[in-house]
Parts: sequence; C-alpha cells; structure tokens
Amino acid sequence: MEPDAALSTRAVHLGRPPHEPDRPLNEPITMAATYVAGGDLEYGRYRNPTWTAFEEALGGLEGGSCLAYASGLAAVATLLDLVGPGEKVVAPRHTYLGSLAQLGDLEARGRLVAELVDVTDTAAFAAACEDAALVWLETPTNPAMEVADAPAIIAAAHAAGARVVVDNTFATPVLQRPLEWGADIVVHSVTKYVAGHSDLLMGAIVVADPALYDVLKQRRDSYGAIPGAFEAWLALRGLRTLPLRVERAQANAAELARRLGERDDVVEVRYPGFGGMLALVLDSGGRADLVQHSTRLWVYATSLGGLESSLERRRRWKSEPDTIPDGLLRLSVGIEDVDDLWADLAQALDASRG
Ligand SMILES: *Cc1c(COP(=O)(O)O)cnc(C)c1O
Repeated sequence: MEPDAALSTRAVHLGRPPHEPDRPLNEPITMAATYVAGGDLEYGRYRNPTWTAFEEALGGLEGGSCLAYASGLAAVATLLDLVGPGEKVVAPRHTYLGSLAQLGDLEARGRLVAELVDVTDTAAFAAACEDAALVWLETPTNPAMEVADAPAIIAAAHAAGARVVVDNTFATPVLQRPLEWGADIVVHSVTKYVAGHSDLLMGAIVVADPALYDVLKQRRDSYGAIPGAFEAWLALRGLRTLPLRVERAQANAAELARRLGERDDVVEVRYPGFGGMLALVLDSGGRADLVQHSTRLWVYATSLGGLESSLERRRRWKSEPDTIPDGLLRLSVGIEDVDDLWADLAQALDASRG
C-alpha cells in the first residue's frame, strides 16, 4: 500500500499479513498464554500477533504507535498513573464520567490535584494549564457536546511544560487526528466507534514519542491490563469499516439534528456539526424518560458508537453533573435508514407530549 493512501484505504489494508502464497488475508486469532522460547513473543502478557495487527491499524490511522488495553478505562488509568505525586491535571468539567471518577478517586487519596474547567472557555482553560503536569481534553464533550479549541489549548499546555492527552472516542481518527495538532497522547474507548458493533470492550493509547511508547509498553507488560485476542480480532474487523460507518452515522445525525431543530417541543439541539453523536433537550426529565421508553427502533441503552442507534436520558445517572439539563437525551446515531430513525423518534416525541 502507498504510504499516502487515503484513510479509508488504510483502514481496509493496515495490519494484514504480507501478500504471499498461502498466507491468510486476515491476521488469525492467536490464542496463546505462552510461546516456544527463543523468539520475540515469549509470553502472552507481553505480545500477541492479533493485538499487533490491531495496533498497526489504529496507530496508522491516528499517526502514532498504538497499545491496546482491556478497556477504555484501563487505558485512562494507565495515563493518569503517569502523573507524579501531588501534580496537577486539568480536564473539562464534562469529561467522560468514568475518567472523572478516576480523577476524583486519585485526588481523594492525595495522589494528584484535579482542576475541572469549562472547555469552551479557551482563556480559562489555558490559564489553568499554567501549573499543570497533564492536560486532559475531550472534544466534543460527553454528553454536553461542547467543542474545544484544541490546537490553542495544546499550545498553551506545551508552553507550560504539560503533556496533553486527547480522548478521541467521539470523533475518531476519521474526523480528527489530535497528534497532528501536536497532542502527545490519544486515548480511545475502542468499545465505541472503532470496534463499532456493541459486542466487546477494549481500549487503546496512541503516542508519537517512541520513548513514551516504551514506558507505557513496559507498564502494560507489568500491570497486565491487556485485551483478549478475540476482542482484538473483532475490533480490527470493526475498524475496517470505521470510515464508512462514521460517514453514514454523521450524515444521519446531521439530518436528524436539522429535523429536530424544526420541532417546537424540542428546547435545544446540540450537534457540533460533525460526528454521529447529538443531544436534544426537552422541557423536563419526565418527558425525556417517556421518550427513551417509547422508541421501538432506537435502543434505550448507555454506550455509543455502535452501528445501531441508541439513546438515553443522561441524568438517569446519579453522577451526571447538574450542569447537564434534566431533560437532555443523548443520541448515538447509527447507520440505519434516516427516515426510519426519524419516524421512530418523531412518534416517541409525539407520544411523550401526552
Ligand atoms: C466509554 C468511554 C470511555 C471508557 O471506555 P470503556 O471501554 O467503557 O472502559 C472513555 N472515554 C469516553 C469518551 C467514552 O465514551
């Protein structure tokens, strides 16, 4: 494959065995706890050819070196562990709840100091970076759908000597590649768009710096937050169609956002203009509850990025901050026919009006 091949071409071809007689087209699933000694692989916690194929593919799309993990939060924990005792982490106030829970736990135990800032206030966020060791970015945020001025924040963080992590789960490398903005680290919940079929949990870290890769690889070797070979195989199969799925989900989401904006019973539509995620705000939590229970095609479920459309009222989670409206529904738009999605959503909204 040409190194300058388009992203959709690379998604199809990266991480495959060489084109040689009798080689399979796809890297097989290697189920092995250990390997015959004398080679490079040695033991199943250190290396697995199926992980490597996945890592070559996702690393290639993000533009760095990739390590796969057991889940997105296993990858997040690995990165927060880079922060030294008492050092400061700056993060958006609407960071993914699981990442916030880790930050809160580490702060409560005196391991680090966390400062949560409105990510749309670039000046305030940049100012908070001044004495930080690690700057955490998520853009768009979940479920507020705020978009950060990431290049400006990355520049401010670097001027202050801080490392920058971008959680790229929502946008995926199809829509934004934070390493190209200068970010040091990209983290993914592979569970979501990359794997894309709501049938596995996995995480990944992608870095540009080989020395940082070595540190993280050594920690993964010793802590063991590794994925299963079957999960890695399925995730790579999912990644092959990532550009196609994101393109379709985005087209559907943009059209649904437009149609929702024409309804006078929807208080607000939050769609950042790209991607397959959107939020809509209704005038009460009760009404949003009714909608999530009234759809037939849309699945009432948490999580996102699957090829099936799903939705949930976010404040049903006790830990969701009260800066998120009670009547906010988060929609993960799938790849179904947009008119079918609209018909079901519209009937659920009508039914909730009582
Ligand atoms: C789901 C999610 C995570 C956590 O990933 P898991 O695979 O569920 O552990 C992290 N960040 C974002 C933005 C997510 O949506």
